[in-house]
Parts: sequence; structure tokens; C-alpha cells
Amino acid sequence: MINLNVYSQNHRKELEQLLESSEWQRVIKSGLVDEVKNEKLKPNKVRNFIDTVIQQLLKFNEERVKKLYSEHNLDDEEIFAELSKWPEDMDDSEPVISFLGLNLTPECNFRPKCLYCNQPWTESKLTIQDWKDIIKEVTEDVREEGPYIYFTGGEPLLLGEDLWGDNGLIKYATERGAGLNVNTNASMITPEIALRFIKSGLGRLHISLDTSDKDTQNFLFGGERFDRVMQGIYNIQIARDLVGVGYPIIHTNCVLTKKNMEHFPELFQFILDKHKQTGDKSDPFFNDLFTHVVPVGGDENEDIRPSAEDFRKFYTETWETVSNMWSEYQDKMGVPPDKRGELFGYFSNPFLRVKHKGGIDAYVKEAAKGRYGSLALSDQCYVAPTQAAFTPDGKQYRCGSHAIRHVLPLGSFPDSGVFDNIKAGISSAAMLPQEKYCYGCALATLYINQSVESKLKEKVKEIKSV
Ligand code: SF4
Repeated sequence: MINLNVYSQNHRKELEQLLESSEWQRVIKSGLVDEVKNEKLKPNKVRNFIDTVIQQLLKFNEERVKKLYSEHNLDDEEIFAELSKWPEDMDDSEPVISFLGLNLTPECNFRPKCLYCNQPWTESKLTIQDWKDIIKEVTEDVREEGPYIYFTGGEPLLLGEDLWGDNGLIKYATERGAGLNVNTNASMITPEIALRFIKSGLGRLHISLDTSDKDTQNFLFGGERFDRVMQGIYNIQIARDLVGVGYPIIHTNCVLTKKNMEHFPELFQFILDKHKQTGDKSDPFFNDLFTHVVPVGGDENEDIRPSAEDFRKFYTETWETVSNMWSEYQDKMGVPPDKRGELFGYFSNPFLRVKHKGGIDAYVKEAAKGRYGSLALSDQCYVAPTQAAFTPDGKQYRCGSHAIRHVLPLGSFPDSGVFDNIKAGISSAAMLPQEKYCYGCALATLYINQSVESKLKEKVKEIKSV
């Protein structure tokens, strides 16, 4: 029996109504819920992004650097330079990757597409078997934890059963030990697909939700799509509760534009009202539906990009408002002060999450030009050899940011394998980051690079102290 008492009264009514719909009743009568209960796969644990970089750099360099230091009078910078160097030749070892981004299709069911969509058109050349072969290669070495695979598009659900079916990509990747995420507009998530996601072991969904104001959201979506998107989200909530599992977790992506940035506190309240009412940090749904703030990208979006003053207001006043709302919510849920989750980590904002040279004054000026990562780039890009991103034409890039802008491809699948392409690009990785290629570096990768840098600096101290 499904227990929807974990939701707010209003939201419970919405879910109960949806559960009574003919679509849900037909799926329940078909026996699919029991099939999923009996045959479901569990999401796999994924590798830590920062440790995956550090472990490989230390494997390649630690003993050599210790020897060098014992023989020469190296200063901190020289030790760091040697320690953080990827080898030019990796012929004797295979890279270990923690992130694989697969842009499965350029097609989207939203026509016209979302107002801010800056996804360039790319011809689809890879077959489902090619995508499986890519996944196979990067999961050959999985023991306890696997790479995190991010399926995106276009709209990946257009692949249908090839994505979520018993022979689909999600199930295939879960069986091979990867952790999975699907980035979708949610409009195609029917009751059946919500249940099939669980059966296949899907761990996470990233769903676009920019505002709780229906008219503004439909304007940004380019059509009357808000209700269908919310229904897709609610179908996942019902499916999880029917099967009795804590996955897939839903995160939302809020693309910040001039049109919706003032609505952010209302969006946050909407999320608090719709997510499971829990004050327990260990509950998998503690941060369910929480939003990642993504300032709008693409040169073509200049007219809807917030100004420097808009950004300043958002990262100071607006953020303080939502932080207070989060505190009040936790008060209401009776969470003791030492058990509280702050709006940090994934759910922090792009200004607070990483260090930007020059602080907020410099950051907001760059942000107004759409160059969100420029001031947070590390001296080197340490993370690139631990990740791979593919576009539908089979081209492989060092990261999602390069893939979306088609910058510096490393090679093409199936002409050359994923690891061969990473190895071939290792020597030129030393030239990165460069502002012209990397100003759009994703927040998560900026964070990983900054964290790797500070961990390696700790390691320098350790080497000197021995
Ligand atoms: S954008 Fe540049 S710095 Fe960022 S991950 Fe890609 S290559 Fe590295």
C-alpha cells in the first residue's frame, strides 16, 4: 500500500488524484509494479571525482617526486609542478575515469525548443551498440565503485526503450557497475517509464525547472508544457513510493535568466512544498527536487542574461532570502542545529561554490558577459584525463563544457577507443585551462580542479615533512 502522508497536504492530494488516473490504474493492473519490485537493480556507488584524479596523479608521480626531493633542493612550487603532472606517455596503464557524459541525441520533443537552449545541432552517427561499446570500455575496470554516466541530449527519452527498456542503455550500464543520471525535460515520463527507470537502477534525474510561475515557465519552455513536466516529476514520486525505493533522486536545474531570477524564492518554496517532508539528513529524499542554479549560457542569450547588478543582487539578497527559508523549514521540521543541512555543495550557487579571483565585484562583471568560469580556473586542468564527453556524431571531448561548444575534440568513436583518445590528448592537456576554451567550465569541474589543487598542496607539505 502506498503511503503518501510523507508529502504536504496539498501535494498529497495532487499525487492521489494522479494515482487514480486511468494511466496509472492501467499500469498497476498490468502487474508492472510487482515485476519492478522483484527484478529491480540498485544504483551503483560511484567513484569520488576528486580522489580519482589524486589517486592517479600520486600513482604516476609520488615515488618519483619523493626521490627528486631527496636528491635536489626543490621548492614548494617545483614539487607541486612535478606532483600535478599527468605523464606524457600512458602506454603502460589505462586511465580511470569517474565521469562520462553521453549526449545521446540532438533531437528534442520540445518544438520550438526552450528559449535559452544553446545546444548546437550535431548529426547522429552512433548506434545504440556504439553507445554500449563506449560504456563497456569505461566499465571494464569497475570493482566496487563505477564511473558516473550522465545521459543527456536533446531529449534522451526520445530513445524510448533503447534508453529505459530491459535491453536499454540504463540497465546495461547499471549491470556493468556504473552510476547513472538522466538529464530530461520530464515531459515524456509516463507511469510506465517511471517504473522502468527504477527497474533499470537509475540513480538520478536532472530536470529543468526554472520557475514555479506557470506562465513564465511556459514562456521559457516555448509552449504550454509546465503541467506535463510536473506530471512527469510526480510520476517518479509515485513510482518510488509504490515500489518502496529511494531512487531515482530528482534534482532540478534552474537556468537563471532576466525573466525568472526574481522568482527564485518562490521556486524554492514550491520545491519545499512538493518534496518529501523530512528533516532527516540521512533520508535519500532530504534534498529531493533541490535545484542547481545554472546561469544562462550561450552568446545568443545575451538579451536574457542578467546584468552585473542583477547577479550581485541574486548572490547577496536573494540567496540570503532562500537560506533563511531553508532555515525556517528546518525549524518547522524540528531539525536540531547540529544536524542541519545548509545550502551548500551541489546546491550552493555558482558564486559561493568555488573561489573567484577578485571576489564578487569581478565575478558579476564576468557573469554579465556569460563568462562564469573565467575567474575560477585553476593553474592547470587536473581533472580532464579522468572524464570523457561524447556528442551524437561520435566526437569525444575532454569535458561537458568543450562538448557543448565543440571545442578541441580528442578523437572519434568508433575510429579510436575512449582510453586511446584520452591518452592521445594527455600531452596537450598540460596547456589547459585557457580562458578562450574554458571560460564556460562547469561549476562541478571548477570545484574538482580547485579541490585537487588544494589537496596536492597538502601533499607537498607532507612530502617535505618526511
Ligand atoms: S573547460 Fe577547461 S578547465 Fe574546465 S574541465 Fe574542460 S578542459 Fe578542464
